[in-house]
Formats: sequence, C-alpha cells, structure tokens
Amino acid sequence: MTLPTVVIAGRPNVGKSTLFNKLAGRRFAIVSDTPGVTRDRKEAEALLRGKRVRLIDTAGLEEAAPDTLPGRMRASSEAAVAQADLVVFVVDARAGITPADSHFASWLRRQNRPVLLVANKAEGRAGAGAALEAYSLGLGQPLAMSAEHGDGLSDLMTEIADRLPEQDPEVDDERPLKLAIVGRPNAGKSTLLNRLLGEERMITGPEPGLTRDAVAAFLEDGIGPIEIVDTAGMRRKARVEQALEKMSVSASIEALKMAEVVVLCIDSLEGLHEQDLQLARLIEREGRACVLALNKWDAVGDRTATRRAIADRLETSMAQMKGIPVVNFSALTGFGVDKLLPAVRAVHHTWNSRVATGALNRWFEGALERHAPPLADGRRLKLRYITQAKARPPTFIAFGTRAEQMPEDYQRYLVNSLREEFKLPGVPIRLLLRGTKNPYKDD
Ligand code: GDP
Repeated sequence: MTLPTVVIAGRPNVGKSTLFNKLAGRRFAIVSDTPGVTRDRKEAEALLRGKRVRLIDTAGLEEAAPDTLPGRMRASSEAAVAQADLVVFVVDARAGITPADSHFASWLRRQNRPVLLVANKAEGRAGAGAALEAYSLGLGQPLAMSAEHGDGLSDLMTEIADRLPEQDPEVDDERPLKLAIVGRPNAGKSTLLNRLLGEERMITGPEPGLTRDAVAAFLEDGIGPIEIVDTAGMRRKARVEQALEKMSVSASIEALKMAEVVVLCIDSLEGLHEQDLQLARLIEREGRACVLALNKWDAVGDRTATRRAIADRLETSMAQMKGIPVVNFSALTGFGVDKLLPAVRAVHHTWNSRVATGALNRWFEGALERHAPPLADGRRLKLRYITQAKARPPTFIAFGTRAEQMPEDYQRYLVNSLREEFKLPGVPIRLLLRGTKNPYKDD
C-alpha cells in the first residue's frame, strides 16, 4: 500500500503553489533542483487531519511547452492525475470561470477520478458570490477559500481527509527509507543524486515560500518511497557552479545523522582516503547502515587492481563494518547505478532485523563452547544468556557474571560470529554486557 496521492491541478496563476505550500507546511516542503532542467513537479508528504498523504503540485508544468494553454495543462497534468486518489481542481473565483477552466474540467470529468473543486481567492463576500459560478463546471459543490489568507483552509483539509480511505496509524511501512549520500568533495554525490532522481522529477526552483533548509528529495524504487535527506548541501553546491564552495565533510556528517542508510560515495580514481575512513567510522558510531559506493568506475583503468586495493584497505581499516556491501558504478554514464538502491534496501532490511531469542541462545552456547571466555583476575567470566534489545541497529545484551569485565577482543569475537551466523553484513552491531546481580554466587 502506498500513500494516497492528492494532486493539485488547474490553470496557471489560480494559486496552486500557495495552496500546496499551505497544505504541505514548511516541514514537509520539498524541492529539488538542477540547473538547466525544466521545472517539473513538486511533491511533499503532508499530514491532513491525521492522514498521511502524498501531495503533488502540477504548478509550473504548464509553462513548459509553447502550444495552446488547455493542451499544455492537460499534457502536463495527465500523468499526475492518472495516479491521483483525489484531484483538487483549483479555479480563481475573482477571475471567474475561463474557457481554459471549462476545457480542463470536462477533460477531468472523463478521467474517473474523485475531484474536489476549490474556488480560490474567494476572500470576502464578493469572493464567496463568485465561487458559486464554479458550479457550472459540473464538478460538484465548489469550496470557497483563500489559500493566501488561510480562509477555508481548515475546511479544505477536512474535505480532503474525508475523501481518502481510513489509515491504520500503526502501519508505518510506508514511511520513507531515509537515505544520505555522503563523501568527500568531488566524489560525485550531486551527480549521483541527479542520476537517481532522474530528470523528469527535477525542478529548477526554488519556489518562493519554500524553506531552503528542509530540503529533501523523494524517489520511488517500486518497493516504497525513499527520502534522500539533506540535499541542501548538494543544492547549494550545485548552484555555486565550478566548485567554489564544495560540499564539505561536515555537511556529510549532518546528513548521516538524519539517515537510516548512508551511501558512502568514493571517487574510485582516488581510492579510500583517511577522510573516507573517518566518515565510515562515524557511520558506525552513529549506528547507521552503510553501502560503499565506488563511483567513477567508467574512468578506472585497472579495475581488478582498484577493487583489490580498496578491499584491502577496508579489511585493515574498517573491520568494524565487516561485510559492508560494495557497489561500483558510474554516476556520470549511469552504468551500474541500478545496483545501488537494491543494495540500500538489503542493508536497510538487515539493519531492521531481529533475531529470534531461541536461535540466538543456541548460537551463543555454541560460540562460548568453541572459544571460552577468558579469565579476569584469575577467575573465569561466565556468560549466561543473550537477548536482542532492539533493532536499528541490531543491539544485543549478554548477561553473566562480571560480564562487564569482558575484554574487547572477546567481544569482537562474539560480534563477528554473530554477524556471520545471522547474516548481518554492513550494519553496526552493538553488544552490551550486563553483570548479574550476585556476581560471587556463580563461582
Ligand atoms: P560532489 O562534490 O560529491 O557533489 O561531486 P560532483 O557530483 O559535483 O562531481 C564532481 C566531478 O566529478 C564533476 O566534474 C562530475 O562530472 C565528475 N563525476 C561525477 N561522477 C562521475 C563518474 O561516474 N565518472 C566520471 N568520470 N566523472 C564523474
């Protein structure tokens, strides 16, 4: 099940963008931009009367092609309306019903989609009267409102929510996977972002009224929505063309804190640098799942040697992220980029996973037998049982006598064995040790 989609449609200048921004609220407002790409659609996730919806603004689309206005409106809105659970059709009450409105309305009636008619700019008494004219469109009772002044906004939210199916508030599998793309300047993060989003989703914005800070980009991979967090740094950089102000590593750090999965983007021509390893350690410390992205693969000469050099560096310097998924591709040509999101999904799944307590303790017994815990102050440390306290990332607690004195290398042994047994590559694993209440009784 995906989120219900509400599409805002209508001819230019009726106030669609204002309405979109009011409904979306600052927090959810999103816009992504690429210089030189025609402004396209704007999407946001919004909460209306407790229901989560995907809001699509078709504003801007109609400015693209130079033919007739009704034709342009229709072409640009067709795709959006086809996936709509509800179309909010906006007219300008002050301007009255224009031929373009009528044309669009009659097309809309044939699309068999629920339509909510909104007569916007209907502030004051004159506006309310003018709204009545919209009855003539044959789309039911118009809701008179003023997006700009906020009049009628609350009614509109209720009307929209009433027309959408009930949602179970407990079901949150439609919550987008939060993804960050981090890496050193010039690794190709912006290029990758643009490649992932695809040109048809780009907007040249920024729209007035949209916050610059709360920038995220959404994409769909057939499984569900993915939100790419903190594209702000990349956007800023893209605007300041020619790398005067390259996205810094500190911007990466902010991004990865907001993410569930982090794509660590490497310039394969450069290999793994100390800064890359620093980021990797940070990803581990913050408990995020990670995919290592080897970009610029198109330009790599000796691929075997490059792959081996990076694998060796990983082995020696990033033992704590053992088994991290590695994907090589070219953001520039697009080669191999299709492998990235499946890898992201897989590691996200691992990051969320829970191990059954029975299986966990069977493994634990075996692991303790194969390699007994060491002595501390001449006395053997005794571990009794283990449980998974939480996921995201997988976190385990082992209980036992003086367990908290367990040396680090033994803890590492347990974590590695756990990772192998339950197939948890590429995610940090937390192992906490708790001493039992009466430590001397067991000796
Ligand atoms: P960012 O600083 O990480 O956002 O990096 P950019 O996306 O701005 O890319 C930096 C430079 O690397 C630009 O000149 C890109 O064209 C180039 N670049 C990005 N991806 C690739 C790739 O896959 N192959 C090659 N050969 N060049 C790339």
